[in-house]
Amino acid sequence: MSQGTARKIAMVVGASRGIGRAVAERLASSGFHVWLTYRGNREAALEVQSAIEAAGGSCELAAFDIADATESEAAVNSLLEKATPDVLVFNAGITRDNLLVFMSREEWDAVLTTNLDGFYNVVRPVVLAMLKAKKKGRIVVVSSTSGQVGQAGQVNYSASKAGLIGAVKALAREVGKRNILVNVVAPGFIETDMTHEIPVEQVLPLIPLGRVGKADDVASMVNFLCSEENMYIHGQVIGINGGLVM
Ligand code: NAP
Repeated sequence: MSQGTARKIAMVVGASRGIGRAVAERLASSGFHVWLTYRGNREAALEVQSAIEAAGGSCELAAFDIADATESEAAVNSLLEKATPDVLVFNAGITRDNLLVFMSREEWDAVLTTNLDGFYNVVRPVVLAMLKAKKKGRIVVVSSTSGQVGQAGQVNYSASKAGLIGAVKALAREVGKRNILVNVVAPGFIETDMTHEIPVEQVLPLIPLGRVGKADDVASMVNFLCSEENMYIHGQVIGINGGLVM
């Protein structure tokens, strides 16, 4: 496996499928060596690695559960012992939808622990390493339209994704002077495993562009935010939703 030592490193959290996969492939094609993380779907992760390598890029895999503080600490530290990434994309997230009145403690905890505690478990040690290495870093966090405007049946998910927006804005104020640019992307309805059970015909009338989003629609914006072309976008929430929310 190539260690991609000459290349800048992009750590993409939750990149075995969906949006994360598209981001990993896009950043690899922009020349980054990718640290691809996932929870348990090794087969899917290996497929992404093969696709990246077949296209001339380089990639290594790390499996850990971002909701598990101990497991995350061990896995992230062992990555950081090799190098400090130039880019971090915090993308992993889950849904456990239900109306609040029927929502179990397990559904609440699973979403908050993964989507929000996961941010703490991963982003904190990476930012610390970037600061110590005096890196000109780029961090992109994947929130959601649900975190911007709220979504019925997703009180847990909306809370977690709104929490990420607050966390990024605060972090942007902490690290801006150190040349670490931190932003949020907030996708609308993107075709992935996460949304495959939602009937498209119910969503389409709400989208002015008249189509659902593709993972590549998100990846191209993340790629731009992580590039040297982005010198002055910081602490922002960029909606990628076809006009679903304006
Ligand atoms: P997806 O297809 O379900 O993929 C989720 C990815 O996150 C997988 O790589 C998965 O790894 C990883 N992951 C999940 N839980 C994890 C955990 N506890 N620890 C480590 N990795 C974990 O999801 P997606 O639709 O691409 O969504 C990606 C992000 O975009 C999420 O944060 C989601 O909330 C957000 N988003 C999605 C949409 C949409 O319409 N799809 C809209 C707005 C926001 P494994 O393969 O190993 O399970």
